[in-house]
Order: sequence, then C-alpha cells, then structure tokens
Amino acid sequence: MPLQWAMAIRWIPALICVLLCACAQAPVRNPIAQWEPSPNHDARRATIIVLHATEQDSVAQSLHTLSTRNSGGPVSSHYLVGADGALYQLVEDSRRAWHAGGGSWGTIDDLNSASIGIELDNDGAAPFPPAQVEALLRLLDDLCLRLRIPRHAVIAHADLAPTRKRDPGPQFPWQRLAEAGYGLWPDPADGEPPPGFDRGW
Ligand SMILES: [Zn+2]
Repeated sequence: MPLQWAMAIRWIPALICVLLCACAQAPVRNPIAQWEPSPNHDARRATIIVLHATEQDSVAQSLHTLSTRNSGGPVSSHYLVGADGALYQLVEDSRRAWHAGGGSWGTIDDLNSASIGIELDNDGAAPFPPAQVEALLRLLDDLCLRLRIPRHAVIAHADLAPTRKRDPGPQFPWQRLAEAGYGLWPDPADGEPPPGFDRGW
C-alpha cells in the first residue's frame, strides 16, 4: 500500500468522529424560517416532580419495564429509587420521559412535558423503608436545587389522575416529606377541598 494511502487511512476514524459530532450538535431548524441564531438560550426545565410506586416485585423487573413497555405501551421514568436506597437514572433530566399519562395539575395538562418522573420500588402495599425515603429526599434536594423546581411542586401520580391512579399509595410518608420541606400537607383547619377540585382523570 502506498505510504500516502496508509497515512490517509489512519485519519479515517478521527474524520468520522468529527463528522458525527458535528451532526449531533447541529441545531434543528425550521425550513420555513430564516435561521438567525441567538446565543441566549438553554435547555427547557421541568417545573414539577411526579412520584410513583412501581407496583412490581423488584428493581430488576422495573428497570426492564421502564426500558420496554407495560400492558399499556412503552413507559419510562427519569429515576428509579430502590427499596435499599439505590438511585438509578434512566432518562436525562432535559428529556421527556413517559410516566404520567393523561391527567392535569393546576393549568398543566401535559405532565410528561412539564415534569421529572420518579418511580419508587414498591409493590403498592408495603411500607417505604427509611433508606428509600432518605434517598428520595437526597434526590429531591438535588433536583429542586439544580433544576430550580419549587419544593412544594412534588406531587403523586394519584394527584394528577385521581380517578385512574393511586400511586405511590396510602403507605407513602407524605408527612415525612412535608417535614423536609417537600410537597403539600393539608391543614385540618382548611376543611374539605371545594367541589370539582379533582377534574376526574
Ligand atoms: Zn404511577
């Protein structure tokens, strides 16, 4: 093989890498408008955190389901918290995971677009072990600080779809979360919610 060819072939992997990197960073432009780029932007941020219980039997089973599908179709979450407190991330914070389904919270109707989804390894009936709750609080500390999500904006899947979902379920320690500054804890003096408070998802 001529020396020039041998030299050129050595550079092919580097050239491919440069081309792939360039493609990965190319902005997605709308062809019907003239591109006049501004440097003043960043990634869109979630504004709410939705807590779930996996209602399955193990982390291994849930990691598989959250990377494939359940009986209703493909599903995922940003994080999974093991019963032993191990933290797993499955989807980047800036991407839209598929965990909420139909529902609403305040004026938000597309919860998947607005939220970070956290699954808790729990069969739907067992108590949540302290190690798991402490790991969740560590994750909430990180997310609310880093993504600037209000600490009260931590809700249950059942909150956004009260007629369709019940997770993370009656065993979940909302009062412990409220003591740490997360979510909302009702004041008995406020009485019952007004009629029509739940819109029936
Ligand atoms: Zn759920």
